[in-house]
Amino acid sequence: MYKAFLIKYGEIGVKGKNRYLFEDALVHQIRFVLEDVEGEFNVRKEQGRIFVEVQGEYDFDETVEALKRVFGIVGICPVVQMEDNGFDDFAAQTVAYLDKAYPDKNFTFKVKARRARKNYPLDSMEINKELGSKIVEAFPEIKVDVHNPDVEIQVEIREKIYVYSETIKGAGGMPLGTNGKAMLLLSGGIDSPVAGYMIAKRGVKIDAVYFHAPPYTSERAKQKVVDLAKLVSRYSGSMRLFVVNFTDIQLAIYDKCPHDELTIIMRRYMMKIAEHLAKENNCLGLITGESIGQVASQTLQSLAATNEACTMPVYRPLISFDKQEIVDIAERINTYETSIQPFEDCCTIFVAKHPVTKPNLNIIKRSEEHLSDVIGDLMKQAIDSVEVIEI
Ligand code: ATP
Ligand code: MG
Repeated sequence: MYKAFLIKYGEIGVKGKNRYLFEDALVHQIRFVLEDVEGEFNVRKEQGRIFVEVQGEYDFDETVEALKRVFGIVGICPVVQMEDNGFDDFAAQTVAYLDKAYPDKNFTFKVKARRARKNYPLDSMEINKELGSKIVEAFPEIKVDVHNPDVEIQVEIREKIYVYSETIKGAGGMPLGTNGKAMLLLSGGIDSPVAGYMIAKRGVKIDAVYFHAPPYTSERAKQKVVDLAKLVSRYSGSMRLFVVNFTDIQLAIYDKCPHDELTIIMRRYMMKIAEHLAKENNCLGLITGESIGQVASQTLQSLAATNEACTMPVYRPLISFDKQEIVDIAERINTYETSIQPFEDCCTIFVAKHPVTKPNLNIIKRSEEHLSDVIGDLMKQAIDSVEVIEI
């Protein structure tokens, strides 16, 4: 029934002169997600609207699912496109459409017309009235209700005529790439993929870094992170995943620092290396999946100690979320099942039985001095040997 979709977008409408940049980013991302959907799609801008048109056969549900992953879209409207062959033809086609779309005629409606092409012989008020009467004539059982209709039949008169009556909710947010890029610290857990998704939703492109510790962490644990990066990229677009070999740094910390401080010190070096990679790759901030109080390394004292390791802004979109709230999002964006696969990430191997929960930054820094002979070289090695995976 539908050969086209009208795409409604929200906040980007208010951006004045930059508006076309936002629209172009949106068009780009719509094309990106539709690459995975079978069918021939044409995505185009027309006077404050984006249309997705389809040639030939396609899967409606799959197309809608893909469009629902595009940030910046607030509504997806399946539309019927008509050539302008005069009002009677347009009214007849609209009646035929309603007959198919609403087999059960038990609803109230109103027509809401917009005339983008001003030389159309009827103005919007006249279209509302005339089309409304044609519909009532065809289906006497349905009634007009201009204040609170069940169905709003929207008409746009452009080069062609567009009719739609359904709006499917979009992902919201802003188009990718309109707010720079940030580096996600991506582990194999539940939280960090959700954190990446949430920042990407605000138009931020994402690269990711994963710290592994072979042979203490398995190849399978790394594959899980690659899988998670792919799942996040269904929303956030293509990304680079940096895989850092963290084994020697972890062993050195294990060897030379108090064991109850292992996690904090390790996390501080993760932040430092992530910041270095972020700067090299034009990222303007770091993103983590931390949430206050979730574990010993996420008390306010621990977060303060971790935060102090780098100067770049660290975005923690889950900071006030309960675990269940994070799980709900993970399920909705389809990362949960992969996150709960039982492969250790490097944090769980070197954990102390009784980690400090209120680390004192001065004491931590003093412990880190034990590493001063080796840490510079170890960090350089870790950075020089980073593996880059294009997702
Ligand atoms: P997650 O579910 O995201 O793994 P978590 O509850 O296990 O989080 P931590 O292990 O304390 O919490 O990690 C906190 C944050 O630090 C993670 O959300 C992630 O951003 C980052 N992080 C932890 N381990 C790694 C790792 N091996 N590689 C990259 N980032 C990591
Ligand atoms: Mg983790």
